[in-house]
Amino acid sequence: MNVDRVITAATIITMDPGSPRVEALAVDTGSGLIAALGPLDELVAAHPDAQLRDLGDVVLMPGLIDAHNHPVNSGVLCQEPSHWIAPYVGYPSWNDVAELFRKLDAETPAGLGLVFNGLDRTLQGAPELTAADLDAFFPGRPVFVLDNSGHEGYFNSALIRLLGWADGRPPADPVGGRFGRDAEGVSNGRAYEIAAVRIAAAPMLPEVVPDPLASAAKWYRYMAENGITATTEHTYDTGLLPAITALASLPDSPLRLSLYHMSTEPDAGNPIATTAPDAMVRRVGIKLWADGSPWVGNVALTFPYLDNDTVRSAGIEPGITGERAMNYTRAELDELLDRHAPSGLQMSFHANGDLAFDIVLDAYEAALTRHGLLGAEHGWRVEHVGAARADQFARAAGLGVRISLAPFHFIYWGELLDGVLFAPEIGSQWQRFADAVKSGASISFHNDGSVSPPIPLLNVQTAMTRRTIAGDVHGPEQRIGLDDALRAHTVVAAQHIGRGDELGSLEVGKRADLVVLSEDPYAVPAEALTDRVTVLGTWRDGKPIDLDAFTAEVASIDPAQHRDPLHERALHRHVSR
Ligand SMILES: [Zn+2]
Repeated sequence: MNVDRVITAATIITMDPGSPRVEALAVDTGSGLIAALGPLDELVAAHPDAQLRDLGDVVLMPGLIDAHNHPVNSGVLCQEPSHWIAPYVGYPSWNDVAELFRKLDAETPAGLGLVFNGLDRTLQGAPELTAADLDAFFPGRPVFVLDNSGHEGYFNSALIRLLGWADGRPPADPVGGRFGRDAEGVSNGRAYEIAAVRIAAAPMLPEVVPDPLASAAKWYRYMAENGITATTEHTYDTGLLPAITALASLPDSPLRLSLYHMSTEPDAGNPIATTAPDAMVRRVGIKLWADGSPWVGNVALTFPYLDNDTVRSAGIEPGITGERAMNYTRAELDELLDRHAPSGLQMSFHANGDLAFDIVLDAYEAALTRHGLLGAEHGWRVEHVGAARADQFARAAGLGVRISLAPFHFIYWGELLDGVLFAPEIGSQWQRFADAVKSGASISFHNDGSVSPPIPLLNVQTAMTRRTIAGDVHGPEQRIGLDDALRAHTVVAAQHIGRGDELGSLEVGKRADLVVLSEDPYAVPAEALTDRVTVLGTWRDGKPIDLDAFTAEVASIDPAQHRDPLHERALHRHVSR
């Protein structure tokens, strides 16, 4: 290696237990690799021609990793010119959403459409919007509102006219979806499940989001501003590759991407062809869905939803969902795994319910055995597992199955989980961090794209405190320590996204990807972590990322090249089988 830069700062945390703190790094910025770590005077003496970059009174750590995200469609749906109206991004109640509706209708040029994403009826106390409700806010312009679950869409009469539905009557329901209709068969402004949601939203997106590549880039930037240097695209299909390649090829691109090809795609498992460097874009896995979302009631559980107004008004049938909430039968799971296991890619199964987790582990164990992969570094994963139990984590550990937890379930829905949706002995334990870590399973954290803001330090703090965003503590026995929580967003997350030998810790031969923090997370109380420790920037390959330069580089790309495929795929996240 040709060391051309020595980097130092007041504090450098390596996340390498063999050498947790160092004074300086010697980097070859040509290859982006770390050549040496150690005392500053030794590295300077060994590399007298290298440029010395002293960052002063800041803290350097390995760049943070979100182990499961959807940066392209999150950008299109959650960044301007779309409007993200989730409760935790400034709209805690339906009144806040209604106020934004009025403000935007007054401010937006006449006739121009508006797209909203993230309405949460349960958290915001929002009504089940109909066309008539939306017409009261938006009498003249087409408007589409996507529910936070992604399973429902709401739209107004102007959009029904734009859709050209004769007498306002929707076409026949598509496979896997349906349209809401009144007694005369006229649309009531509702679409259920993604197949119908996509039909209703399709005429809006080209007008409202004219440059979806720029929208995607805003999400890249948002992640980088929260300290993230690598993540995944967990709803990859081949149509996204030109946009992903374009963003990855820019000199100031802030994110490395590991791609998980949706199993529902006909070419899932085939090699991908990209001109982007392998260090920036790599296809590592296959994404599969076992069940659905706890906020909609389509998760496969062995325990009941409680019977109360909140549960019923969320459209959830009280009681035990059981196997009927599975997207696949066990025989179908076996067939899917037999089809994809020979590719050598990771399997990555969405499973929220404890029953879904059991069935996936059964299918994994059988498939790993059939394919001779037990005991090998197969890297197979399970995603979210809100309801997982200690014995299930232990079983996953024994199979070498990695678990990516979703702290945001607890952060934003913790009050509802504990005693409203579920009995306290179950709901208070949702996202069992301590049981997961104690089991010896490999545990990473993620924010899942448009489902929650990508803020790793908030996940870390919450795992240590079990305090929700509303301020209450639930299941304090599931607290973990800072080291385990940080590992879930660095060194373990790197393994989970298929880059464990390159990223996640500062060691010789790994990439010099860094996050610059204002304070040492080990030196502040857990409760104060996100107040005191702020992200000052990120580095890739030993060089600082200039996010304004990245935005300018994106602006130089002709949006027309990426418009159609990105619009078509913007709603992909929630495809469930
Ligand atoms: Zn996801």
